[in-house]
Amino acid sequence: MNKYLEQIIELSDYDKEIGVFEPKIEEQKAKLEVFLSSANELKSKIEEINTQMEAIKTKKSKANIHLGELKDKLDDAAKKYSEVNNEKELKALQIQEEVAKDQIAFANEELNRFDKSFEIKEEELKEVQEHLDKEEEDIKEIQIAVDEKIEELNKQRHEVDIQRAKLLEVIDGKILTFYQKIKRWAGQSAVVEVKKQACYGCYMKINDKIFLEVKKAEEIATCPHCGRILYVKAESEEK
Ligand SMILES: [Zn+2]
Repeated sequence: MNKYLEQIIELSDYDKEIGVFEPKIEEQKAKLEVFLSSANELKSKIEEINTQMEAIKTKKSKANIHLGELKDKLDDAAKKYSEVNNEKELKALQIQEEVAKDQIAFANEELNRFDKSFEIKEEELKEVQEHLDKEEEDIKEIQIAVDEKIEELNKQRHEVDIQRAKLLEVIDGKILTFYQKIKRWAGQSAVVEVKKQACYGCYMKINDKIFLEVKKAEEIATCPHCGRILYVKAESEEK
């Protein structure tokens, strides 16, 4: 095979390899991101429950103050019995007492309701907290695995960079420019294989004459349809 063609194929392979590192690293980060966003959702849920619990507490203390006032009213009514002068006053006092008792009963019921909903919230909080703890444990493990994977990918990328730099030192300048020109529009597919006598860049069939040239690989051949650099892997692999 033509030496320049070999170099271009090698360079194109390095460029392709380098091109996949970034998406692979992003993929790793995305994996972690899924767990992090799930943990964040749980954290805001906890915040929400805490706010609800605070609101219940506030309502409860207001209800307690109100209950105290009602009890005072009842005590006052009890004290007034000695001052009663007639039946009418007695009746009024009894009504006052009854109303206060009803109100106390209602306030107590309300307090019970608050206690119950507070308990429910406590239970809910416990569950969400447990879920979050578990999620955070997982995140720690995944973080380690992801960091390791990214480090490994960076190491691999660095190695490819070194190989590529070495090649750039020896590659013919004109050939490099030629390749870069095609790469500008063709991206990672500047150098493509010919399979089944078709260019694997544009998937058009190439004529017998060019196909023969590509197979010989004495010169750098380009696709007559799209202009990409063509090569055939090995005689045995080509069908
Ligand atoms: Zn083509």
